[in-house]
Amino acid sequence: MAQAAIIINTSDLSFTHGNGLSGQHVIPAKTPDEDFGILVVYPTPEIQDIGDERRTVHWLKSTPLAKDICGMRSEDGKYTRLGVLFCNAEPDLPKELLAAIEEEMELLNDNPPDVKYRKTKEGVMAAINVEDPDVRKAKIRLSATVQKERQKFEKYCRSLVTKEEVALAKRTMLETAAKLVSDGDTLWAGNEMDRRNISELPKWACRLLGLSRPWCYLAQQMEPCPGCGKPNPVGVITCGSCGAVYDREMADYAKMSNAEKARSLYPDRYLEPVGTAPKK
Ligand SMILES: [Zn+2]
Repeated sequence: MAQAAIIINTSDLSFTHGNGLSGQHVIPAKTPDEDFGILVVYPTPEIQDIGDERRTVHWLKSTPLAKDICGMRSEDGKYTRLGVLFCNAEPDLPKELLAAIEEEMELLNDNPPDVKYRKTKEGVMAAINVEDPDVRKAKIRLSATVQKERQKFEKYCRSLVTKEEVALAKRTMLETAAKLVSDGDTLWAGNEMDRRNISELPKWACRLLGLSRPWCYLAQQMEPCPGCGKPNPVGVITCGSCGAVYDREMADYAKMSNAEKARSLYPDRYLEPVGTAPKK
């Protein structure tokens, strides 16, 4: 049976796995509008000669390849530490998709690329692809069918990922990030050489956790305090310098008189004495 494997990614990093046998695979990053990026790993078709000039397609299991892609079979298994998870579901490839892939494969096998050499106007020999127009059309049509069927199937695969799996991938990622930040701190506390060895990953972890470190400057938008003028990160509710409390929109303060502004920003300094009647 031809089954696919599902890999999800809850981080904003994409990961590339490449080896000579299975080619290059990219686990896409999660985009801001989705819960996870997804890579569907397909079983690899192999044409087997069964004698009498007959051939059959044999599908190699996708699980070992998927585990390789996640880094699960290497020493450090690093992608699974960074938000990647190999999911439990192993959906069967739909019949339509299998048929389309096999048909495409047969067509490509029966029509290997044919190249002719011709002399160009400039007198240079050039390789030119020669192909029957019908074969060309069939290739385009089949490739479009395969693509369409894959998209449908991958949408279905996305629906097979459980909430628990997404939560597990995220939890592991956050645990790794916390550890990476502490590794960064340790290096920062060391000598000049150690400091220079802080790699991109601890910095990524800092940003992920919203932490600011001397070795990872977090670009923040600042705006001046309407009370004392010192810059504060946008969105804070008090001023780190003068203690002003912002309980209104920043733009409102510009419209106030100085006295009004002072009462609004520093309410505890302008408390009415207890028992006094409000001024008329
Ligand atoms: Zn201030």
